Amino acid sequence: MNSHEPLLRIQNLDITFKPKAHAVRSLNLEIDKSQIHGLVGESGSGKSVTSTAVIGLLPEPPAKINSGQIIFKGRDILKLKQEEKRKLRGREIAMVFQEPSKYLNPSLKIGEQIREGLSLHLGMARKPALERAFELLSMVGLGESRRVLDSFPHELSGGMKQRAMIAMGIACNPSLLIADEPTTALDVTLQLQILELIYDLQNRLKMSILFISHDLNVVKQIADRVSVIYAGKIVESADKKAIFKNPLQPYTQLLLLSIPDPEKRGKPLKAIPGTVPDAEFIPSGCAFHTRCPYSKKICAEEMPLLKEYKTGHFAACHLLDGNTG
Ligand code: SF4
Repeated sequence: MNSHEPLLRIQNLDITFKPKAHAVRSLNLEIDKSQIHGLVGESGSGKSVTSTAVIGLLPEPPAKINSGQIIFKGRDILKLKQEEKRKLRGREIAMVFQEPSKYLNPSLKIGEQIREGLSLHLGMARKPALERAFELLSMVGLGESRRVLDSFPHELSGGMKQRAMIAMGIACNPSLLIADEPTTALDVTLQLQILELIYDLQNRLKMSILFISHDLNVVKQIADRVSVIYAGKIVESADKKAIFKNPLQPYTQLLLLSIPDPEKRGKPLKAIPGTVPDAEFIPSGCAFHTRCPYSKKICAEEMPLLKEYKTGHFAACHLLDGNTG
């Protein structure tokens, strides 16, 4: 996309699942250093499969990476050996998940779980690692006492568990933090607190963040740049302001109309007709043509390419090329 070297560049990534589900289709995405990049799409659009590939945890099989590159700091993650991927994970690239309960070890105290990562990746001895774990818990707002350090996950509330997971994520000062729907399971007040926390930590630590969400409103609050994914392809990518003020692609436009906007109270919301296509049955041409109110003959026949229509503003739609036949 750009001539400069981003922190992460995903190029033509293509992933299928047995027997014939096409989850990610020639996907391109770039994340700059210190950027919060929002990846938005409906459930089943390929967001999590993409991030799982970035962190090197895609189970092959059933997944098959057919083509593409994931260039992180100049190295293609897809070409790394398992041991190299393991070293990268947690140390250079970390992940925060939607449901921390699934990923925290229920039989290990929080302090021990953070210490393990510090000892594994940074070779820290037990005592200083536990002290560092306490510092990290303080950074995420759990340092009022040493109680959390000595707690098991089941002794913490949902919001506290998410904070602890974030502390684990930032423990080794990663260059890239992948936050996969980190606020979706929380109520609105907690959502806001976790968003503020992630935003503050990014400011302090200057890491890049790939922030994955189905919710444009959430992404609006935190991202610098936004990419919209549909049926495994990026259909629009631009600075946040451009996406929200002047979306070019019909799917993005409809997504924006379908979310509650506090500034437009009283205006009716418009649901996008239909559902995201099953990865086994992706429509021909533009995959959105079965739901798009502007669909033309060409839309079912040819796949529109992701092109730069304004500086830094990429979109994929035949209408933007004047193809209205
Ligand atoms: Fe709609 Fe056609 Fe544009 Fe796809 S290419 S978004 S179907 S107008």
